Amino acid sequence: MRELADGVFMLKGFPPNAINIYVIGDVLIDAGTRQAEKRIFRQIGGRSISAHALTHVHPDHQGCSHVVCERLEIPLWCGERDALAMESAGGMVNPKVPGWLTRLQERYWTGPPHPVARVLREGEEVAGFTVLETPGHSHGHVAFWRESDRVLILGDVLNNMNVNTGIPGLHEPPEMFTADPARNRESARRLAALRPSLACFGHGAPLRDPGKLTDFAARLPE
Ligand SMILES: [Zn+2]
Repeated sequence: MRELADGVFMLKGFPPNAINIYVIGDVLIDAGTRQAEKRIFRQIGGRSISAHALTHVHPDHQGCSHVVCERLEIPLWCGERDALAMESAGGMVNPKVPGWLTRLQERYWTGPPHPVARVLREGEEVAGFTVLETPGHSHGHVAFWRESDRVLILGDVLNNMNVNTGIPGLHEPPEMFTADPARNRESARRLAALRPSLACFGHGAPLRDPGKLTDFAARLPE
């Protein structure tokens, strides 16, 4: 793990920055695909983790949620409108994703269902961060914001790489995987307006350039 800010760690992965997992304080944020089990347990090692929170319940974020919560005996937290998907077999069914791709994700990525112990709501606290409800990419998407040093964990509201090619750069998440793109743009504008000194994405390298984020958000269509 690499420490990005006080108590904010990013797990290493391969390819680097492709599917990101963080630890903030004693909370694991996101859990990759089902293939991430070794990667997670090897890196969190002896560190004490007391809860697991999700930015959103997509297969590349909740894949190891069940195994992590079972093995560490910790509760799972996520946004209200994603909780049902986390608790149901098959997870989130997105009608815009073609059937073959959904089946492929279910086969290799999607983790088993797991009960949600706490629903995260706007303004609540998680490991010194404030929960921000940022719907759009999924209906229950949340971000985590620490105003004292302006650190933001923003899940897939924006990607800092092209998720198809791996080439770095800011992008909206692919429309196919985004429940409500217009709503997601509103969330992106809201987060960019915070001017985070460090932005940590679900996909792509951390960004320490708030101007880049505001410029990008300003160019998004209404
Ligand atoms: Zn994702």
